[in-house]
Amino acid sequence: MTLTLNYSYRIYPDSKQEAMLDQWLEICRRSYNYALRELKDWIASRKCPVDRCSLESEYIMSAEYPFPSYHPQQNQLPKAKKVFPELAKVSSQVLQTNVRRLHDAWDFFRNRGFGFPRFKKYGQMKSLLFPQFRGNPLTGASPVLGVSPRRNWRGWHIKRPKVGKVQINLHRPIPNGFVIKQVRVIKKAKGWFAVISIQSDITLPKIETPFGHPLGLDVGLNSYLATSDSYLEKGRKFFKTEHRRLKVLQRRLSRKQKLSNNYEKARKKVEKQHNHIAFKRKDYQFKLAHKVCDMGDSIFMEDIDFRTMAKGFLGKHTLDAGFGQFRDILKYVCKVRGKYFGLVDHRGTSQTCPNCRAEVRKSLTDRFHVCQECGYGVDYFVDRDVASAQEICNRGIETTTLGLRGKETVCQVEVSGVMSLDNWRRGIPLWAEISRRESGSPRYTA
Ligand SMILES: [Zn+2]
Repeated sequence: MTLTLNYSYRIYPDSKQEAMLDQWLEICRRSYNYALRELKDWIASRKCPVDRCSLESEYIMSAEYPFPSYHPQQNQLPKAKKVFPELAKVSSQVLQTNVRRLHDAWDFFRNRGFGFPRFKKYGQMKSLLFPQFRGNPLTGASPVLGVSPRRNWRGWHIKRPKVGKVQINLHRPIPNGFVIKQVRVIKKAKGWFAVISIQSDITLPKIETPFGHPLGLDVGLNSYLATSDSYLEKGRKFFKTEHRRLKVLQRRLSRKQKLSNNYEKARKKVEKQHNHIAFKRKDYQFKLAHKVCDMGDSIFMEDIDFRTMAKGFLGKHTLDAGFGQFRDILKYVCKVRGKYFGLVDHRGTSQTCPNCRAEVRKSLTDRFHVCQECGYGVDYFVDRDVASAQEICNRGIETTTLGLRGKETVCQVEVSGVMSLDNWRRGIPLWAEISRRESGSPRYTA
């Protein structure tokens, strides 16, 4: 198994290179649209019933005309270069991956049944993929740690065919033992970026079974994150100032005359601000994911579909928080750091007492968990988010091998059901019991 990582760096093409890359994007966009047109025509020509005349509604393509799949279309590229000489300006590998991209989108559509590839409008093509590297495309002295990146990137270049050497801010070095596999150049409002895919033969131990200290996580709007160990991460509207500025910019944009120069300038500013917020959020989420990995070994989250959550009345805030993205990032960080990551059933986690598992109804305004059955949360405050994180942790333990460790003792008591209930009522939550055994501390009593 190989390990693939994507490192993203900022690049600084000079004005000539920038014009060139812009031109490439436009050529790629046109060839993408051309290939898509061919695909669509083929499909349309097969829609008409055999015994009807297709003159009126459908294109005529002979029945022998092969389906324009990836390889035929890719093989057409050299011929197309003769008809459209501008294609020759773009590196041929970039053109090939561009066609590949259309067929990836097509395969996605075939598998999922939605998301038919669309024509790209002017300016919608935003990335170029350079595959295959012979040798290292990066040149420069090894970066000096502790020196500001601005000084470090002086002298560092990334070399690509036809474009030549482009300045790159190598703010973190490529780790030893990794080989550069491909480079994707992306145009954003903030500037140009290179996402470098690096690969290594290092085998990461695949974490199949949970181990060590279990940790349940609950994400929400009141506190961004709550853990079963009562850690609360505040963070609602943590981009308040950024959003206020976005609003101002959007308002300015709406007052400009469409398609005027000033409109274009204002539009760029709005896009930049969107970029800024997205970068900041991602940075925050990565840091938080590492923090979580510091706190536990087996991490459990809900298997909730955040897209449905975003359709609710707090939709805008849910989208802003980017919970789905956080879950993906956490999963990735867990993999890299060798921690276990698992998902549990999300139904009713906030309405269940983590201590006695009784249903405790709460409305959205109830901030604390108070269980009348077992008294959990009566003497001291238990935040509702912490309670649901503990319930998530319970479920994670039960549905995996961690639960077997807990059961060894419980089973003896379970022979008489009443005793087992008493065990819970004494207030020894499963999660606390297991972490007690982990650390070897004395028995926990509520
Ligand atoms: Zn209870």
